Amino acid sequence: MAIADKTLGSLGEFGLIDLIRQKFRVPHGTVGIGDDCAVIPSGTDDLLVTTDMLVEGIHFLGDKIAPEQLGYKSVAVNLSDIAAMGGEGVGTFLSIALPPSTPQQWAERFIEGYRAISDRYGVPLLGGDTTSSGNDIVVNVAVLGRLPHGKAKLRSAARLGDTVAVTGTLGDSGGGLRIILEERPHDKDAKFLLDRHLAPLPQMELGATLGGSEQVHAMMDISDGIASDLRHILSASGVGAVVDLEQLPLSEPLRRTASLYGWQAERIAASAGEDYELLFTIDPSAALPKGTTAIGRIVEGSGIEWRSGGRRLEDNIMGFRHF
Ligand code: ADP
Ligand code: MG
Repeated sequence: MAIADKTLGSLGEFGLIDLIRQKFRVPHGTVGIGDDCAVIPSGTDDLLVTTDMLVEGIHFLGDKIAPEQLGYKSVAVNLSDIAAMGGEGVGTFLSIALPPSTPQQWAERFIEGYRAISDRYGVPLLGGDTTSSGNDIVVNVAVLGRLPHGKAKLRSAARLGDTVAVTGTLGDSGGGLRIILEERPHDKDAKFLLDRHLAPLPQMELGATLGGSEQVHAMMDISDGIASDLRHILSASGVGAVVDLEQLPLSEPLRRTASLYGWQAERIAASAGEDYELLFTIDPSAALPKGTTAIGRIVEGSGIEWRSGGRRLEDNIMGFRHF
């Protein structure tokens, strides 16, 4: 096949980002493409910048998410990237494309959700852009953050022997998505999972705690599932990892719902996206902060070796891919 015939489907999301990255030089001392945020030195601080797009039909189903929830989520996923560096949010910018047929009430409710999370985390909206679109809603939020110079937790900082750990529980958002797609009844457990899917909490406090610890080395947020996201830390750091499926922290609602519908909860926890928890590596002698769980360790080599109860698994668990 000629190169000109290649589609983005075969190049992949990360292949395309690499293609873009090769064309640009990054100033010395600045972190550019490849981490959760860009890190730009500014006096005694570093500025953090991140941007994320939510597209109708890809990231959300227009008739399954309330506009308030979409407004909330579009900020949450970006604040999560600020938390992933150990930083704090300074302000947000909202760019939005809406079909002309969109009811005004939809826009008002969207802004209400956006305002609620902005207030909750004390991060004001400072600007943006507004335009019309053909059929689908597209929302792009950019967030500016900050932290003391040199303190950003990069994906490239994992060290041999580090413990691999995560905050919170994994797979709840993936469970919520399945509730929607499989049209399951909204019982109490399902509601918990749906809430985690539709209104994820960015881990700002734990992010700042982990960010302030010298014993925490690499950190990122979990947007595509650890099966995919951990690989970014491993390739950026030039190391491998052993991860045990049985150690993944699962919520009781996910466990119960999975056994009710015959889902494999550990697989969902490993490979479903949009948890927005934090994934980090920490010196093995350090005590893990409350609310975090060890799931494996950093070893020589590359990629993830999956185990279950100490036994090696042969298959390659994959995370969510965008193309
Ligand atoms: P995250 O899931 O943390 O938001 P992504 O996987 O979306 O990160 O992106 C990985 C890296 O690639 C980030 O550093 C992001 O800024 C960069 N990136 C993604 N798309 C583009 C693009 N179109 N142009 C430049 N950089 C990009
Ligand atoms: Mg991220």
